[in-house]
Amino acid sequence: MANMCKGICNKFKATDYEGRHRYDNGQKMCPVCEIFLVWNGIRCPCCTVILRITPRGNKARKEIHEKRNAIWY
Ligand SMILES: [Zn+2]
Ligand SMILES: [Zn+2]
Repeated sequence: MANMCKGICNKFKATDYEGRHRYDNGQKMCPVCEIFLVWNGIRCPCCTVILRITPRGNKARKEIHEKRNAIWY
């Protein structure tokens, strides 16, 4: 489980984003490389750690919860 940043992620680095959140744009956060990636896989192409796809911020999280709740009504 020794996941390290090998620098490969720089190729997939998300430099900019549109919309309200990075995650809205399909960007994912790698907790090991500590950058946002534009990557379709579940795991980081660089360190193979599972990427974070949900926002940490309170406001963003609340919005996602509201969206999920809406499905049930
Ligand atoms: Zn990396
Ligand atoms: Zn990574």
